[in-house]
Amino acid sequence: MSSQHIVVVGAGIVGAASAIWLRRAGMAVTLVDKGAPGRGASYGNACILARCAMVPVTTPGLIAKGPKYLLDPEFPLFMRWSYLPRLLPWLTRYLKHANDADTRRIARGVATIVGDSVEQHKALTAGTPAAKWIRDSDYNFVYRDRAAFEADAYTWALRREAGFVPEIIEGPAVQEHEPILSQEMGLLAVNKDHGYILNPGDYVADLVQQLQAMGGRFIQAEVKDFDLLGGQITAVDTDQGRIACDKAVLSAGIWSGELAKKLGLNVPLEAERGYHIVFKNPSQLPKSPMMLSEGKFVATPMDQGLRCAGIVEFGGLTEDKSPKPLEFLRRTVARTFPDLSYTSQEEWLGFRPAPADSLPLIGELRGSGVYTAFGHHHIGLTGGPKTGRLVADMITGDWPNADVSAYDPMRFAKP
Ligand SMILES: Cc1cc2nc3c(=O)[nH]c(=O)nc-3n(C[C@H](O)[C@H](O)[C@H](O)COP(=O)(O)OP(=O)(O)OC[C@H]3O[C@@H](n4cnc5c(N)ncnc54)[C@H](O)[C@@H]3O)c2cc1C
Repeated sequence: MSSQHIVVVGAGIVGAASAIWLRRAGMAVTLVDKGAPGRGASYGNACILARCAMVPVTTPGLIAKGPKYLLDPEFPLFMRWSYLPRLLPWLTRYLKHANDADTRRIARGVATIVGDSVEQHKALTAGTPAAKWIRDSDYNFVYRDRAAFEADAYTWALRREAGFVPEIIEGPAVQEHEPILSQEMGLLAVNKDHGYILNPGDYVADLVQQLQAMGGRFIQAEVKDFDLLGGQITAVDTDQGRIACDKAVLSAGIWSGELAKKLGLNVPLEAERGYHIVFKNPSQLPKSPMMLSEGKFVATPMDQGLRCAGIVEFGGLTEDKSPKPLEFLRRTVARTFPDLSYTSQEEWLGFRPAPADSLPLIGELRGSGVYTAFGHHHIGLTGGPKTGRLVADMITGDWPNADVSAYDPMRFAKP
């Protein structure tokens, strides 16, 4: 295929990976971001290449348990109640998927982009400076006891069916394996052959530098609209002017929803607010990243210190942090890592792009030359490189050797 000019909107992990794979395929590529690369959700996540994370949040039983979770101050789900009326249409559609058939269908869809994620990150960065951020590791789930582990049996059964069978460590062996853990934690489910990124923000910044070293362009500008002629993209409009192009990729994370409206898509996309605290100069670090099942957050030994990241809060796209989720994180960290000391804490709030059906939108808006690549919810860092590869394959006409029908963005086309 002759070289075309592709504009990629958004320099998070998804946009950066798409831009690199497109450039490798010989395309002229301009990557545009309203800010610096890698400062959206891709900055502050839990760093995990979560190969086994194909099971969505919407599992059977969620509708019955949800209200109890919301009212329980010791459960990591928070709501800004004044936001509830605006959330309801999305929430209603989201909860409709909390049944066995949909959970399995979504899990199959997500598995395609997460299952080989460590290899995908390595392929994306092979021979480049960005490769230095990737770490091979186990990914451990921490439980108080066997009963707590068994309460998650449904999710583990789906993971097992996909080939992820954890090694179980119980009793005092838990603290021998991970000395940072409190004696109260009695079971570790160890998932082999995972990985993490030592610093996701710097990783994405390095990927964008790599794109430029390969002859791609990065422009700091805010995308406002798309120009179409006869239904075909001709240019992307920014606050710095118009960028003519043959094709475009919309990979602006949570901010893609508003831009997609201009293209005739009405995506039920909600900002799932998440938090992290980095404990600086920690006295202890876990050997491998671990998911604390009671707090539903991940503790990762990264280059900034010990990052504890997770929590779900609904409250829209406002930048102000809520005190309660952060207090919850601090309380749970103090209980789970009782001997941890540190010099300071750094707090962050970010927005997971959450479509109501928990499947990302990857594909062409029929015949327009605009491709969507957003809606990666909890697994965007994991699945970004594979997504970028799929998008590049679709654009170059080298149709992906994978079933991508689940990601079709036209499912949300306005009637
Ligand atoms: C607390 C937390 C923990 C997480 N942990 C993990 C994890 O361990 N593993 C994992 O796989 N995933 C995790 N995630 C999810 C993951 O971070 C996201 O799914 C992923 O980063 C989304 O990447 P993205 O490139 O789609 O979006 P983003 O990283 O948000 O990038 C979007 C970019 O688009 C730009 N942009 C927006 N609007 C415009 C515009 N109009 N013009 C130009 N540019 C624009 C933004 O500036 C931004 O740079 C976590 C998320 C959170 C919040």
